[in-house]
Amino acid sequence: MRRSTVIILVTMAVAVAASLAAVESFGPTSPTELARAIFIRAVLIACVAALVTAATLAWVDRRALRGRVAVLADAIKRLAAPDGSARLVEQADDELLEIAHAVHVAADTVGRQLGAAAHERARMETILASMLEGVLVVNRDGEVVLANEAARGLLPLDETPVGRRYVELIRQPDIMQQIGSALTGETPNAVEVVFARHAQRTFLARAAPVPASAGTGAVLVLHDITDLRRADRMRRDFVANVSHELRTPLTAIRGYVEALLDEGPHEPQPQRFLEIIGRHAARMERLVQDLLRLARLDAGQEALDLVSCSVDALFAAVIDDLRPSLEHRQQQVEIKVAPAATTLVADPAKVHDVLHNLVENASNYSPERARISLSAEATDDRLVLRVADTGPGISEAHLPRIFERFYRVDKARSREAGGTGLGLSIVRHLVELHGGSVAAANRPSGGALFTVNLPRSRGEGPGARGE
Ligand code: ADP
Repeated sequence: MRRSTVIILVTMAVAVAASLAAVESFGPTSPTELARAIFIRAVLIACVAALVTAATLAWVDRRALRGRVAVLADAIKRLAAPDGSARLVEQADDELLEIAHAVHVAADTVGRQLGAAAHERARMETILASMLEGVLVVNRDGEVVLANEAARGLLPLDETPVGRRYVELIRQPDIMQQIGSALTGETPNAVEVVFARHAQRTFLARAAPVPASAGTGAVLVLHDITDLRRADRMRRDFVANVSHELRTPLTAIRGYVEALLDEGPHEPQPQRFLEIIGRHAARMERLVQDLLRLARLDAGQEALDLVSCSVDALFAAVIDDLRPSLEHRQQQVEIKVAPAATTLVADPAKVHDVLHNLVENASNYSPERARISLSAEATDDRLVLRVADTGPGISEAHLPRIFERFYRVDKARSREAGGTGLGLSIVRHLVELHGGSVAAANRPSGGALFTVNLPRSRGEGPGARGE
């Protein structure tokens, strides 16, 4: 029965009872007055009865509603339980059923999303845990957010690094520097590191900033490159050994060819054959010599002997060396040394080799009567040496690869000029040994331009031995 019907019935019953009581309580009076009095009393009593009944029902209703809401709220709180949302619907009836259904749908959607996220996280954790590479992620405050098993083993970190600052956990300065740079938004160059616990292995540590879309911070990856380094060392050793082995027979061949040629005169054909053998043996000797030099540079076996040198004297020595071929090709050399660039602290023999290579190339790859210019300029702490020519230059497509080993723009031309394809690689090695850099470009007016940039006062390069 509806509450309003209950109120009306109760009100009517009370009013009828009250009217009957009123009839008895009135003494003899006129019928009209009696009817009026009865009506007024009945109305008043009905009103009071209606109010009392409504208040009682409201109080009862409220209690019942509070009880149901409490049960529903309790069920909502337990939504996280696997069968929580099913129980939620069971807890509700009448008007609350609609709300329970809406909460049920919302809970279902959120539950599915949470499930997918948890699944994704578990998958990522499994992948990270099975990775051989160490992975460490820090947030922008420098707190560790994630460290996989490999990273924990290498760095080494205890079982609970998450939430702690990386500066308190990591001991290797190189790695700390990497993460520090990545946190400022830079992508630092990877560094090779050896961990005390794994002294036989070499790792490459590379940190990168985490983009803002993924929550800013830095990610560090530790990659085991021991096998790569071993293979590289084996390759270098092999080249060095082969070059060593070839040197002795080649010297013998060239020696005997020269002896035979000296014995001449020969018939034209044997004479020509001997000359060809001699030329090729000499070329192979140059090749072996360059390979051995690169092997020594690779192995860090060429230390710098730093002394103060005169730039003019360095230029003059190179021109003297190459004078016969320059004169033969009628090529002119201009030298320009700025007053501030007259001296530099460097290994003179190595700078000589650099300039010799560059000037020889300028002469070989330029036509007869070309002009070659050598210049030196100084900035605050650098000395810039330039070797330019008026030859054909180097096409843009080849410029980026010109310093690679055996890279030649025109193989036939290089061979004809007696080149090995290793000259510029050696140049780069020697310049970098001084802590400098070398670049190739074309002059706007035509011809190649090589720029060597060296630290001016002292060797900052890896092989510097000091003055
Ligand atoms: P190579 O022994 O062949 O000269 P390098 O390493 O010295 O080897 O030079 C690599 C290549 O770069 C050369 O084969 C040549 O094609 C090109 N090259 C170098 N210097 C010049 C230059 N001054 N002008 C034009 N090409 C050049």
